[in-house]
Amino acid sequence: MTTPLRVVLLGPPASGKGTQGRKLAAALGLGYLGTGALLRENVEAGSDLGKQAQPILARGGYLPDDLMCSILADWLGRQEGGWVLDGFPRSLTQAVFLDDWLAKRGLKLDAAISLEVPIEALLDRIHDRVECSSCRWSGSRHQRLEGGMCPVCGNPAGPRSDDSDENFRSRHVEFESLTQPVISHYRQLGMLYSCDASAPQDEVASRLLQILSNRSV
Ligand SMILES: [Zn+2]
Repeated sequence: MTTPLRVVLLGPPASGKGTQGRKLAAALGLGYLGTGALLRENVEAGSDLGKQAQPILARGGYLPDDLMCSILADWLGRQEGGWVLDGFPRSLTQAVFLDDWLAKRGLKLDAAISLEVPIEALLDRIHDRVECSSCRWSGSRHQRLEGGMCPVCGNPAGPRSDDSDENFRSRHVEFESLTQPVISHYRQLGMLYSCDASAPQDEVASRLLQILSNRSV
């Protein structure tokens, strides 16, 4: 792959966007932005953004489009090469914002990849998922070191505060109503690629690389 790729990962909560986004960015030398992890970091750090986001995230909601778009514009403006976005665009408004942002700079998105996982499998993942609050590693309980420590940095890794069943269901409903139109938008533009993401992490990671090297555009 010669040109810097610009990729968005779409998918329901717990479909593996964060894990796959990081892997993909590392494999291709791209920048990575996970808006979910970024917001949780800000909540934990008690920043202004975190204070705005906290009550919304606590009830399983999504942040307003204008706030998300300004966070994105700030981040995108600092990127030199290609990138992988996870958690943005989450609504049609955000997708249109991204299209405009790119068009104004003579750039374009290379692929929007939809990670597809049945809801029953997502619920199993939610129950098993832990995250490191230091380095944002995310994985299964059994992947942790003794004492529940992060396998990457050795700090404690536990359940995410937003991973209750109720919170998950509410985020899934939001995904269906807000993000499905984004998926249709990219399908209409001919840049949507679907990936069965119910397989093990490494298998999904190699499928994603395959999608990007085979894409016709
Ligand atoms: Zn860690």
